[in-house]
Amino acid sequence: MSGHEQKYVQEAFETNWVAPLGPNVDGFEKDLSQYVGVGHAAALSSGTAALHLALVMLGVGQEDVVICQSFTFAASANSIVYQGATPVFVDSEWQTWNICPEVLEEAIKSERARGKNVKAVIAVHLYGMPAKIDEIIEVCARYEVPLIEDAAEGLGASWKGRKLGSFGKLNILSFNGNKIITTSGGGALLSEDEALIQQSRFLATQARDNAPHYQHSQIGYNYRMSNVCAGIGRGQMQVIDERVSQRRANFEWYQQAFDGDERIAFQPEREESYANRWLSCIRVDVVKTKGVTRETLRVALASESIEACPLWKPMHLQPVFEGAPYYGGQVAETLFDDGLCLPSGSNLTEDDLQRVTEVLKRTLG
Ligand SMILES: *Cc1c(COP(=O)(O)O)cnc(C)c1O
Repeated sequence: MSGHEQKYVQEAFETNWVAPLGPNVDGFEKDLSQYVGVGHAAALSSGTAALHLALVMLGVGQEDVVICQSFTFAASANSIVYQGATPVFVDSEWQTWNICPEVLEEAIKSERARGKNVKAVIAVHLYGMPAKIDEIIEVCARYEVPLIEDAAEGLGASWKGRKLGSFGKLNILSFNGNKIITTSGGGALLSEDEALIQQSRFLATQARDNAPHYQHSQIGYNYRMSNVCAGIGRGQMQVIDERVSQRRANFEWYQQAFDGDERIAFQPEREESYANRWLSCIRVDVVKTKGVTRETLRVALASESIEACPLWKPMHLQPVFEGAPYYGGQVAETLFDDGLCLPSGSNLTEDDLQRVTEVLKRTLG
């Protein structure tokens, strides 16, 4: 927390706006759309809820397939199944670790050739690293498939000076407790299309028709963000750029500490990308370390009470998605095998970073 949050939360209490609507919700939505540079935003209860509503509004149903980056957190894909549709997973490329545009095209062509209705594409900016968004947009436009940008991990990052969360037809953010800023739990749906955002607010409040009594013509959801949580969000928005700087500084510290050490590679950042470095991610070359794996490093850190975590396990390797179609090779799988997220909190001190680095160096020998 930054200290700015309490003012807004207190305001919510003083004015008795303790509900899933109110001035903080309106203010937070305005802050978000202004910051990201996108026309409209709806504050919701989670990033997962935002993904689900995006698919509902795109009309995704049982006969449809939705293409999703395999290398991601399960929430990116779960909402496809909520709609009864089939997830089709696509591999990443090495330059950004995100969905590979060429394999994406192959997947669309091949699913269509099998008679499938490709209803949407979900691209993720994993660890706050911009995906190859120009190429992805081009493929989606050519095949007329709407793009959903999962920018849950990417708030504050940009591509060619334009913020992530502003490129798709519908874009989602998350403010879960582990994300770069938090509302304790929450998410948002963003779009240039005002009608879609208005419809998402309607669906997120139980789809109540405009009548004095309770009348419903559609299935609704209870997905709105509370005015108390939105107050936390407004305070957090005042420090988002500071948080990005802190995360980038963590990454630079690690990178400098291992400068010239060929055993460790860092998640690459392209010239026109500005990643938020939500997590500092490395790869461990087991040949060059003579057998020290990412797991060796993780266990060594854990024995010093330092938490580190393997990179996301790809969706096409998850038991729950067994049998789902998959396109691509071994990029996501390799990243899972040799990748590690280092401690990356915005509040890490130089002493903390020094301690992590020492354990890593000692273990590598
Ligand atoms: C966190 C996350 C989500 C889901 O957001 P919640 O607010 O936790 O529901 C979706 N996609 C990715 C890539 C995430 O990291």
